[in-house]
Amino acid sequence: MLKKLFQSFRPPVPGQHHVRTTPEVIHKSQHSLPRNQFSRHAVGIVERLQAAGYQAYLVGGCVRDLLLGITPKDFDVATSATPEQVRAEFRNARIIGRRFKLVHIQFGREIIEVATFRAPHTDEDQVDSHRSSHNANGRILRDNVYGTLEEDAQRRDFTINALYYDPVSERILDYANGVPDIRNRLLRLIGDPTHRFQEDPVRMLRAVRFAAKLDFGIEKHTVAPIRELAPLLREIPPARLFEESLKLFLSGQGAMVFEMLVDLELFEPLFPASAQALEDRPSYTHTLISKALINTDLRIAQGKPVTPAFLYAALLWPALPARVLFLQNQGVPPIPAMNGAAHELIVEQCQRIAVPKRFTLPIREIWDMQERLPRRSGKRADLLLDNPRFRAGYDFLLLRESAGEQTDDLGQWWTDYQEAHDGTRREMIRELGSRDEGAAPRKRKRSTSRRKQGDDEAFD
Ligand code: ATP
Ligand code: MG
Repeated sequence: MLKKLFQSFRPPVPGQHHVRTTPEVIHKSQHSLPRNQFSRHAVGIVERLQAAGYQAYLVGGCVRDLLLGITPKDFDVATSATPEQVRAEFRNARIIGRRFKLVHIQFGREIIEVATFRAPHTDEDQVDSHRSSHNANGRILRDNVYGTLEEDAQRRDFTINALYYDPVSERILDYANGVPDIRNRLLRLIGDPTHRFQEDPVRMLRAVRFAAKLDFGIEKHTVAPIRELAPLLREIPPARLFEESLKLFLSGQGAMVFEMLVDLELFEPLFPASAQALEDRPSYTHTLISKALINTDLRIAQGKPVTPAFLYAALLWPALPARVLFLQNQGVPPIPAMNGAAHELIVEQCQRIAVPKRFTLPIREIWDMQERLPRRSGKRADLLLDNPRFRAGYDFLLLRESAGEQTDDLGQWWTDYQEAHDGTRREMIRELGSRDEGAAPRKRKRSTSRRKQGDDEAFD
């Protein structure tokens, strides 16, 4: 499957992919873009801006997706009007962003993003660091240099994202051979790939996301520098990487995204501890993370809710045992070792990807639940069932089992218990007591050490 993604392809115009000064104009009769499938609010904005004397187009993901028959996630507008000029035209508009100033125009729950044409960066721009600046590796730190339509096309990432649609004339303007690339299902960076990835290393993650989501190949010159440049992701602000990680793993193609991230060596800079686990215990780690993502993809396809906490709990879980063991070898008892390891791992991960507190707390709860699910005697099982995290904890237990962890059939026990009537439940608890739990004061200790043993087997 992966082979297809990296197929090579001869570009329709030989040589490097640059933006032309005059676009390929695709007339209404030559394309199948349905005007009525664009958001009427977005079309309204374009019409209004054009009426006010500005250039304005629908651009980016919405044009690309509709050409592919996919329902767009959102609608972006590009215009020659500055953010201030756009705001002056619309009551419901506000300017957002510093690194990249944009206007958001709100219609009820729909937000249309309006961006002013940007120019690619030149060395001269950097004198004025308020408008544009780079760091030593060539990364763009600020990007508010306005430009022409052609320049705007040139600074976009992939050729298929640089298509401009005018809903008034119903023409598509293609400056970068985006339409042939859509036809050939190829992701191709505009310009020199190394340079464009250095400017913004997140484009490497975008390449993976679009390839997985659209089922496109990555053109060979675009894919070539990725492995070498992957470490540049370490410099991206962790908050931006959190947003990007959600787009990657909640794209509906998370399992594919994971394969590609690993293959292109982009996984390590994002999840260093998990990458280490993947090296130490490849089959178990790979299975656990893949299965979590396959479940997530399925839930998304079924329109069910998904929580980033569960996903992160799974992504990091395989990295825990090594840390627990390390602390235990220093004499820390099992439960504090588990807690200490969990805490450290999350703190460390947040240095790469800033997972917000509202997700790190549930991650810990899902993990804690793994310690508690084996302890079922007395009233414990019923108390656990009432715990708001029970479902996530139970699903996580099943996930661990499906990756080969030995839990003494604990998942099946909990499945039966949930389905059983009161009488049967009491019987199940009694059986438990006579089968493997001794006198009351020793219960906790014995069951904990049993579980620990079980885990160690799976983690060996
Ligand atoms: P989707 O919204 O489906 O995720 P999209 O292509 O619309 O895909 P956005 O992040 O909404 O992606 O960005 C809109 C457009 O802005 C893109 O199509 C692309 O032209 C441009 N763009 C976004 N991020 C970058 C970037 N990092 N570098 C260059 N251009 C970018
Ligand atoms: Mg978009």
